[in-house]
Amino acid sequence: MTETVTEAQTPAHFAARLLAWHDTHGRHDLPWQQHIDPYRVWVSEIMLQQTQVSTVIPYFRRFTARFPDVRALADAPEDEVLHHWTGLGYYARARNLHKSAQLVRDAHGGELPRRLEELAALPGIGRSTAGAILAIACNERAPILDGNVKRVLTRVFAIDGDTTKAATQKQLWAIADALTPAERSGAYTQAIMDLGATLCTRTRPACALCPFAADCRARAEGNPARFPAKKKTKPVPERRCQLLVIRNPDGAVLLEKRPGTGIWGGLWSFPEIPEREDAALACDRLVGAPPAGLRRGKPFRHTFSHFHLDATPMFLAVGAVRAQVMEDQRLIWYKPGDKPLGFAAPVKRLLDALANEGIELEMNQQ
Ligand code: SF4
Repeated sequence: MTETVTEAQTPAHFAARLLAWHDTHGRHDLPWQQHIDPYRVWVSEIMLQQTQVSTVIPYFRRFTARFPDVRALADAPEDEVLHHWTGLGYYARARNLHKSAQLVRDAHGGELPRRLEELAALPGIGRSTAGAILAIACNERAPILDGNVKRVLTRVFAIDGDTTKAATQKQLWAIADALTPAERSGAYTQAIMDLGATLCTRTRPACALCPFAADCRARAEGNPARFPAKKKTKPVPERRCQLLVIRNPDGAVLLEKRPGTGIWGGLWSFPEIPEREDAALACDRLVGAPPAGLRRGKPFRHTFSHFHLDATPMFLAVGAVRAQVMEDQRLIWYKPGDKPLGFAAPVKRLLDALANEGIELEMNQQ
């Protein structure tokens, strides 16, 4: 904090204004704000990374109903955990949540550790998430610096360094630390996240309603959306593939479990082959039988954070197939409703279309 800080930007005033605003105008009825405990705060914080509150709410409700505590989550099969994450995206979050729950069960007696360093060392929990858990669930003084908080602080204090750079992060952590009060630390943490999510939004902040309107430097400069400084965007690469939707005479489709890392890691998907590979030969290789018919589906685009995937579904019907397919742990014949599995959103859509719309698989001969 520099000598140009206004009175309202000093820690005591900052916290007092923020808390007064939140007491009156903040959200207090979100599902993770009820029956607060470290586990529920942890799950909500992980779900809220890169995902909006309105999307998270039903997922949080279903997830915590099925896995009400650390042990229930740790003891569950990974497929079932990923099933409850289907459609939420960024599946590494679910895999890390599951892995961390097992570590907490095995090394911490099923209780999330209360030391910031131990908490932050668990897979998927960094310093900011650990701080949020301790502040909200235990009312301990622990600063946080998630995307919402970065946006508020860079604007109030007009910090225009690149927030992905270590020097800017150090500066922001120092400010976050200085501003976090010793009293009502949990309420303060929820308040600053709420301000960032509801008023100090990315593109059109509602400055007129903000408790810092009179002192915010970004507002005074006239262009708050300039903060935080934008990274130079590179063109997003494109990748193409085919997804093999192979159906057997029983009406089951072949699914393949993807490796634990990489896109859709640990989820079940239709076997993916390169754009130019022969789909019929790939079918023969996978199930020991050439397709009786093949039809090219409508290509679709799925955008990841770092590339676009253009996928073409290839619908194939096979007759009698090699028995070994069932012995390969990574390949299964699946009918909707068989058992809870994790699917990427486009795979789920295709499965639903097969089940509900009866996609015609009595295809032309290739
Ligand atoms: S005045 Fe506007 S830009 Fe500044 S913190 Fe408030 S909402 Fe954000």
